[in-house]
Amino acid sequence: MTSTPQKRLREYPNNCLSINKKNELFCDAFKKSIDYKKKSSVTQHLETEVHTSNSQKLKTVPNINFNTDEFQENFKNDLIIWLSASNVPFDKLNKMTFKSFLNNNLRPVFKIPSSATLRRSFPNLYKSKIDELKDNFSKSKVSVICDETTDSKCRYVFQIIFVKLDILKENCPKLVDTIFLDEVNYEIG
Ligand SMILES: [Zn+2]
Repeated sequence: MTSTPQKRLREYPNNCLSINKKNELFCDAFKKSIDYKKKSSVTQHLETEVHTSNSQKLKTVPNINFNTDEFQENFKNDLIIWLSASNVPFDKLNKMTFKSFLNNNLRPVFKIPSSATLRRSFPNLYKSKIDELKDNFSKSKVSVICDETTDSKCRYVFQIIFVKLDILKENCPKLVDTIFLDEVNYEIG
């Protein structure tokens, strides 16, 4: 049975191997084609110093070329929003299972920030979101909707919701404040 580059590629997945236009087995780490006919020459190549160190570098460099600082910053902010919106305390980041879930799935593209970093970044992010809301509603006619309800813990809450009165623009209702009430005077009829 003759061997093909495709067969070798299937035999050695995730080893920086690919097939080039000349239908040769090409090593992306070595930047050269390698002999695919004998299985032993492939395994020998994969064990060489130059292959292992170069492929390690390929694997740790995220293949995203745009501004990684900005990318990382967005990731951190999204993480803060996701955790806060889900009522997950930042300390959960320190839990081994949570940490390894993130590390195993998101690294090396993302650096997982510590809970202390999130706590430090939270006030600025909060302020920028409030500023976004202010910008969104400035110079617009606004309808204010107040609603008294109970939250998931049966606490009385008073919600203040703004809706921009402009059908031509994005006018999805925005919750701008939640006030917890000690008592309410509604009666169940
Ligand atoms: Zn190689």
